Amino acid sequence: MADQTYDYDVLVIGAGPGGYVAAIRAAQLGLKTACAESRETLGGTCLNVGCIPSKAMLHASEYFEAAANGSMAKLGVEVTPKLNLDAMQGQRLDAVKQLTGGIEYLFKKNKVTWVKGLAKFQDAHTVDVGGQKVTAKNIVIATGSSVTPLPGVEVDNSKGVVVDSTGALELASVPKKMVVIGGGVIGLELGSVWRRLGSEVTVVEFLDQLLPGMDGEVRKEAAKLFKKQGMDLRLSTKVTGVTVKGKKATLTLEPSAGGASETLEADCVLVSIGRRPNTEGLGLEAIGLELNKRGQIETDHDFRTKVDGVWAIGDVIPGPMLAHKAEDEGIAVAENIAGQTGIVNHAVIPSVVYTMPEIAGVGLTEEQAKEAGHEVKVGKFPMLANSRAKTNHEPDGFVKVVADAKTDRVLGVWIIASVAGTMIAQAAQAMEFGATSEDIAYTCHAHPTHSEALKEAAMAVQGKPIHI
Ligand code: FAD
Ligand code: NAD
Repeated sequence: MADQTYDYDVLVIGAGPGGYVAAIRAAQLGLKTACAESRETLGGTCLNVGCIPSKAMLHASEYFEAAANGSMAKLGVEVTPKLNLDAMQGQRLDAVKQLTGGIEYLFKKNKVTWVKGLAKFQDAHTVDVGGQKVTAKNIVIATGSSVTPLPGVEVDNSKGVVVDSTGALELASVPKKMVVIGGGVIGLELGSVWRRLGSEVTVVEFLDQLLPGMDGEVRKEAAKLFKKQGMDLRLSTKVTGVTVKGKKATLTLEPSAGGASETLEADCVLVSIGRRPNTEGLGLEAIGLELNKRGQIETDHDFRTKVDGVWAIGDVIPGPMLAHKAEDEGIAVAENIAGQTGIVNHAVIPSVVYTMPEIAGVGLTEEQAKEAGHEVKVGKFPMLANSRAKTNHEPDGFVKVVADAKTDRVLGVWIIASVAGTMIAQAAQAMEFGATSEDIAYTCHAHPTHSEALKEAAMAVQGKPIHI
């Protein structure tokens, strides 16, 4: 029963994967729920301009490249591809339309009220949403994140010369030369899309390796593979400025440690140096909620903020900025509000880079495990020795299992493989149940599957793989 003092039991601010899931779960648990969202469509960054549209372009461009680079010919399928970029963009928009429409359907089905507009706190139980006053006993902040700007570099997605990830999804033609600033997930995924479609792609990365946060061996192998695919990688290099003249950009680069600068010309520059939490204009000062040094909202284990009745989840709080992390927190926060026990195990959150091959990991890297004081044992197995990967002409990559040498408990799993994103789910589930490497090694895996490489890597922890 709704508390009559308020319009709603729960008001969620933001309808991304964190917010819309929290709202649906709260409603399922019998709470009178509303969700404030300022976008024209539900689904947040993920469904509108993130996970889904990027995967639509990655999937389509992967087919194009397979046809163009002889991979299909190797299988006896000879085709000469012709790019219809409008149609490719059309199927991206269609995927977004269907999935965002699907959330609207789920809101109706679960009786979640969508309050359209920008939300701003008046007090801890009152929010102004586009001029409308909405009160709720519990308010969940799920406002997500947006692109981190690079000082001195002006993004203008409408011109298509200096773009962020949203602009890079929507380019109307294939740029001849693209420079990606930031060798993280977005840079490598969207850089791959345009490279496959014909762009010469240079990635400028401040650090000495790509993909910060991933296992060291995986980062090195990834750099080797992206180079082999034709990406020009400029590691340990920073961009100090970008000037635009007409349809051309000129970038100034410098070694990260300082030194002589040089210039680089490009038809398109993608700025992808990270994302920052959305808290501006939310009126947090009205409720006395302060941000941490990284601009995030801190919560306790149950996703409660310091302000009574105000909760927070997703990209706006600390942790990896990932849709599935936000979703799980959405379920947990709703269950906690309903008086149940909602828990997210932040030690076991997989991450996947959807390039070809895919790159995935869960748990600790070898470096992190050692830093945490573990004596580690590592088992590795190359995809080249996996019968299915070899048969499918997908020999690149490996599986790496990091286990505790004393207890054999699996601490982390790192995979580069064509279907690493699918394979990592098994590793996450095993770790959630506290598996040892022996548990994975003695689990029967279907043959012939890429997943057998995980079994063999687990066997390799004890030094006993069969196929190498
Ligand atoms: P968001 O999805 O950002 O949603 C927040 C919503 O709140 C937005 O719709 C916003 O309009 C709304 N909002 C903000 N402030 C207000 C306000 N004051 N009033 C009303 N509404 C407000 N993650 C993955 O796990 N896998 C991927 O493959 C993946 N690919 C990505 C690709 C790209 C190009 C990008 C940019 C991101 C990608 N991500 C991916 C990250 C993923 O999109 C985010 O981690 C996820 O969307 C975070 O969910 P959220 O609910 O916290 O916030
Ligand atoms: P990121 O943090 O993954 O990578 C940013 C990179 O830019 C880092 O490697 C950093 O060292 C580099 N960098 C920072 N400043 C620089 C500078 N001045 N010059 C050169 N390099 C610089 O950030 P992103 O790629 O923008 O992605 C943002 C977030 O979106 C990520 O946190 C990620 O979790 C999420 N995302 C996830 C997926 C996925 O799960 N597949 C896909 C896309 C985005």
